[in-house]
Amino acid sequence: MNPIRKIIRTDAEWQAMLTPDQYRVARKQGTEPAFMGPNWDQKAKGSYLCACCGTPLFSSETKFDSGTGWPSFTAPVASDVVENHEDRSHMMRRVEVRCTTCEAHLGHVFNDGPRPTGMRYCMNGHALHFKPEGS
Ligand SMILES: [Zn+2]
Repeated sequence: MNPIRKIIRTDAEWQAMLTPDQYRVARKQGTEPAFMGPNWDQKAKGSYLCACCGTPLFSSETKFDSGTGWPSFTAPVASDVVENHEDRSHMMRRVEVRCTTCEAHLGHVFNDGPRPTGMRYCMNGHALHFKPEGS
């Protein structure tokens, strides 16, 4: 398997490419308020791409209604498209999920998800771009 080719840009370059909400979430480790971002209630079939670099990260196939107000998935489309990092901010110990290609902050993963993986990838809607199936 080929290693994923990284996309590296400066903060100023990302800021020019992204909306202020996307930039704050994906490049500055922000969290959008629950039920306020895009995609949490998206139910159509399709792919969820990284809002920064366009890499397909999640699919409607693994999306589920977590009731949290953030788009939630049981698994990424492939194990190597996202990377886990320990996050000890806000007096909590959580696992941060980043896009492997461009290191965008996507959200966190928790082990209280449904079958079959038992994982809950709790993502920020602003970090993902929804591409409907067939488009
Ligand atoms: Zn990315």
